[in-house]
Amino acid sequence: MAEKRDYYEVLEVPKTATQEEIKKAYRKKAIQYHPDKNPGDKEAEEKFKEAAEAYEVLSDPQKRQRYDQYGFAGVGGGAGGFSGQGMDLNDIFAQFGDLFESWGMGGSFFSGSSNSGRSRSRQVMRGSDLRVKVRLTLEEIATGTEKKIKVKKMVPCEHCHGTGSEDGSTETCPTCHGTGRVVKTQRGIFGLMQVQQVCPTCGGEGRVVKNKCKECGGTGVKQGEEVITIQIPAGVMDGMQLTVQGKGNAAPHGGVNGDLLVLIEEEQHAELIREEGDLIYNLLLSVPTATLGGQVEIPTLQGKAKITIAPGTQPGKVLRMRGKGLPIIDQYGRQYATGDLLVNVGVYIPEHLSKEEKEMMEKFAQSDNSRPGASDKKNFFKNLFK
Ligand SMILES: [Zn+2]
Ligand SMILES: [Zn+2]
Repeated sequence: MAEKRDYYEVLEVPKTATQEEIKKAYRKKAIQYHPDKNPGDKEAEEKFKEAAEAYEVLSDPQKRQRYDQYGFAGVGGGAGGFSGQGMDLNDIFAQFGDLFESWGMGGSFFSGSSNSGRSRSRQVMRGSDLRVKVRLTLEEIATGTEKKIKVKKMVPCEHCHGTGSEDGSTETCPTCHGTGRVVKTQRGIFGLMQVQQVCPTCGGEGRVVKNKCKECGGTGVKQGEEVITIQIPAGVMDGMQLTVQGKGNAAPHGGVNGDLLVLIEEEQHAELIREEGDLIYNLLLSVPTATLGGQVEIPTLQGKAKITIAPGTQPGKVLRMRGKGLPIIDQYGRQYATGDLLVNVGVYIPEHLSKEEKEMMEKFAQSDNSRPGASDKKNFFKNLFK
């Protein structure tokens, strides 16, 4: 997969650009790289797709926000196993056909083309997106993982192979006569207005099914389920949303599939607390260990680790275990650093003492070294007589 360019860079707009500016910038690119203006030019086609993908995300306030926050990972673009292939020409014409028409790039761009996939100006149906939640442990987030989930979704009808027709035949829609649109007269503030709408009979396809399929009633889809494998990159965070393109609901009559939107939920770890890439562990030392030093076991995501406690370790001290945190990913879903595990040291003060233990403590209390500042005083005299 080629390196992805930042969407703002693709459209050559600042991060603060308004929706109007983004639309204008996209128009420029769409005209410049349109396949019908650059026949056979693969590079132009790639640029055309790249611009459409950028516009698809930046023109949608929700997607744009996710992209600003999480980069490609937030919109299903860059992260390793995700589709990230961007849009193909069919998707682009299906989604932005209306926009192109309003820019006067309509008809001719769609018609004369030899590319059979987009030789019709009518709308291609798109299946709706599906949303699922995936719960992950910190151990899974540390390494990245693969999840297989079974989802109930609309799937193509096997009987008619998704066409909706018993014998695959269609006829020109009687309502719109094949244009996919109907013109309605509406009363607006300036009087009567003519408005173009998607044809309600054929949903914009321009054709209707002849000899409807008995299994699906002519829609070409039916309720079914699919086991979908989702690649989760390392370092994802609670609330992040990943997009698996084309794994949503199937569209009627063999249109474009919707997407599967995967919401990441993080399971709380029994002992470790996550703070972005770092992990926090609250360690409670016994009075003797804090005083005399020793070895203690720390839970990490890679199993137990031993650390050495220096004699005289004070509560409140933070010990840093470098690289024992989580992968930190950039906006493209690539890891560029690893967090640390921070051990917050506390000291457990015994609440109940036997008579004997009490005597030991009282004895210790007689010592100068039991009081704060004792070692400073010693150092002071030491330094004085050096
Ligand atoms: Zn069917
Ligand atoms: Zn129609």
